[in-house]
Amino acid sequence: MSSKNQLISWFLKNRKTLPWRPEDPYAFRNDYFVWISEIMLQQTQVAAVCEHFSRWILRFPTITDLANASEKDVLSHWQGLGYYSRAKNILMTAQILVRDYNGLLPPTRKELEDLPGIGKYTAGAILSLARHENEAILDGNLIRIFSRLETIPFLPDQKSSSDFYWNLAREWSSSKKAFLINEALMELGRNCCKVKNPTCNTCPLKSICKAFISNQTHLYPPQKKKSFEEWVGLILVIESSNGKIYFTENSKSQFLKKQKTLPHFEFPYSKTMNYPSKAEEYISFDLVKNFQFCGRYRHSITRYKIDCNVLHILTTQKISSKDPHWVSKKEILKEAGNSFSLKALKLAGI
Ligand code: SF4
Repeated sequence: MSSKNQLISWFLKNRKTLPWRPEDPYAFRNDYFVWISEIMLQQTQVAAVCEHFSRWILRFPTITDLANASEKDVLSHWQGLGYYSRAKNILMTAQILVRDYNGLLPPTRKELEDLPGIGKYTAGAILSLARHENEAILDGNLIRIFSRLETIPFLPDQKSSSDFYWNLAREWSSSKKAFLINEALMELGRNCCKVKNPTCNTCPLKSICKAFISNQTHLYPPQKKKSFEEWVGLILVIESSNGKIYFTENSKSQFLKKQKTLPHFEFPYSKTMNYPSKAEEYISFDLVKNFQFCGRYRHSITRYKIDCNVLHILTTQKISSKDPHWVSKKEILKEAGNSFSLKALKLAGI
């Protein structure tokens, strides 16, 4: 049996049931479901995506339903998946699809890749997994597998090395069964050829895997050079005298832009910061009854690691109006439940 057939037969035996997969592995699939599930799966575990995906499809069953929804509604259904720009791109794309493509995803790779948030990988997934076209995909799982199969000592971090990996992906997907091969490779990467401790003894490709044969799986793929930046941050939990918490659309920080979060400021470690005077950008000191440093937590956003200092400020203000900046404690999860704010609120005892 060829390696591709061995891989397919392994996949058909081990294929997991997932909400975006039809029961029949040979069935054509819904483009929209493939698109949304693949974007959700970027940097997120399958188990977490299952619940979000089902909730999402219940609320936005079609691209048109999604295009007609408000950004707030869409973001609230994305909550917990992080990287909110992905949800904003999805909404923007849905609106373009309704305007220009009759509410459907377009037919060609070029047109798909021109849409906000749809790159080479997602376009390949829609074309091959949903429509059974002979198209390649390449993500972190496939890169790891290819690097180990061929003992490739570099990552696709430049044009020439990326072309090298894409050519391998095209070789693997040059088959009428590309839809099965692509998904089998993704499943193999997630469940067998894992980052740490790959379970090579159960792998359908072990007889052709150069890293396994030479007992060098730990060397492939090579490690990415880490370039984290350490920053320090100040997060303000401003509480009114009747227990409402102040949230902002965040215009004063480069992180979590246009999201409803607690007020915050961040600086590279080398710069010093005067906490109280920063707080005054949001609340006048005449209105402060008491402020208290509650502790710190670490939060990572892309390549930034932020040492977040939390200041709890009690004010003399009583907020009775429906000012959208002030959120009652019981509505926080619904209105602004991002993990960045929730960690600070927990430290402040809220
Ligand atoms: S044999 Fe091991 S290292 Fe090679 S592809 Fe299979 S799981 Fe990955």
